[in-house]
Amino acid sequence: MKKEGCGIVGIALEQGNAALPIFYALYALQHRGQESAGIAVSSGAKEEKENEISGNVRDIPLIKGMGFVYEVFSTQRLESQKGNIGIGHVRYSTTGASKVENAEPLLANYRGGKIAIAHNGNLVNTAEMRRELERDGRIFHSDTDTEVIAQLLAKELMKHDPIEAIRELMKRVIGSYSLVILMNNTLIAVRDPLGIKPLCLGEIKDDENGRSGYIIASESPAIDMLNASLIRDVRPGEVLMVKGGDLESYQLYRGKNTAHCVFEYIYFARADSVLDGRLVYGVRMKIGERLAEEHGVEADMVSPVPDSGITFAIGYAKRAKIDYMEGFIKNRYVGRTFIMPEESSRDIAVRLKLNAVRANVEGKRVVLVDDSIVRGTTSRRIVDYLKEKGAKEVHLRIGSPPIIAPCYLGINTPTREELLASKRNLDEICEFLNADSIGYLSMEGLIDSVGIEANNLCLGCLTEKYPVEIPGEVCIARQLKLTQF
Ligand code: 5GP
Ligand code: MG
Repeated sequence: MKKEGCGIVGIALEQGNAALPIFYALYALQHRGQESAGIAVSSGAKEEKENEISGNVRDIPLIKGMGFVYEVFSTQRLESQKGNIGIGHVRYSTTGASKVENAEPLLANYRGGKIAIAHNGNLVNTAEMRRELERDGRIFHSDTDTEVIAQLLAKELMKHDPIEAIRELMKRVIGSYSLVILMNNTLIAVRDPLGIKPLCLGEIKDDENGRSGYIIASESPAIDMLNASLIRDVRPGEVLMVKGGDLESYQLYRGKNTAHCVFEYIYFARADSVLDGRLVYGVRMKIGERLAEEHGVEADMVSPVPDSGITFAIGYAKRAKIDYMEGFIKNRYVGRTFIMPEESSRDIAVRLKLNAVRANVEGKRVVLVDDSIVRGTTSRRIVDYLKEKGAKEVHLRIGSPPIIAPCYLGINTPTREELLASKRNLDEICEFLNADSIGYLSMEGLIDSVGIEANNLCLGCLTEKYPVEIPGEVCIARQLKLTQF
């Protein structure tokens, strides 16, 4: 199964060109996906509204390509994309097909019109739906679950108005989905009933370029980027429609519980993001402090594994009252690491990114703090590297409990076989990593630090219990019920 993380953004301006602000917002979401990027826009300007026939043929100019946001778009290309509403996407996937056909937004035809759609998340029941849609004569151009959503929505739009069509869609699909959809002159946002992946809403109010409208994005720094203001998160099970400067909300489904992805707080989201009302930086500081309380050790310095370990290490150092010092300096110009097949070149991959500072670590007992361990391959090299540079002891402290199970809902974690902690006990892990001691954050410490009750979080990768039905896995039922609107 293909698993991926992604970033999405939708912007609806009252007038003006949306392509450029979408480009900037995608820049702010680049950490969510470096494999491909795309922007689709549509012209739904107010002055055109009068003459519009619902469902008429509208062209949706689409630009997408492989690589970083700045590699895919040029000013020239962006200027050729005219339209005051649009959506954008950055995609990340280290397994599965890495090809431009899978880049988003994706387009689908309906009733002679077109919709564009961008998705963050992962569905777990697409095979059967895809077969059904293919039997109906629909032709697929990609192998993504997003195209199943697009085709299913297009099919429902033959019979229903947009809100009813989305209600039907949400009835069928299982998994995580934060969506932005472009449909004629309307921008639509959808968050799955469990709120697994983040999605937030902001307002652009007569900014320095005279723009007004709404922005919907995976994370709030995309809103900050445009000097817009964060209004709130899109609620689990909510659908937002922005049309001609008006915002409408439809609460289509309401669950008993939510299942916000805990890994967003641990690793995936930016530290300056406000997710479901919480600043990620604050959560990571608390985790670091808690880690110091749970796994204190005599040491001379606390160092992060940059960048992901930094905030945790600051919290740890503060609580433990041990000096914070950088054992490594990161080369900020290394983007994707080229993974060569030979062992020696994989070592190069770490050295390209990180250089251990001998003067800082020589003869020292180092507490080395990172957010998580997945396969353990990087962590092992980093510990060895510190020791090569003269560190006397390396005590590894990890800002999450052990990752023991795969994610099926949008984070690219590998199979159980590849996960370091899935079949090893703590001693074996410590030995594998060649560390002098290891301390993982407790589950209780994690939940206290995030500040969301366990039964409102998805903890699948840490507990092996998932909030939706996944063949061969244990499911903790999260009851859903249909509500009126
Ligand atoms: P490992 O030792 O498991 O090979 O690597 C651990 C490092 O991987 C940690 O520093 C952590 O920040 C990082 N990490 C965790 N999840 C992901 C992910 O989904 N993608 C990437 N590129 N790195 C990750
Ligand atoms: Mg890291």
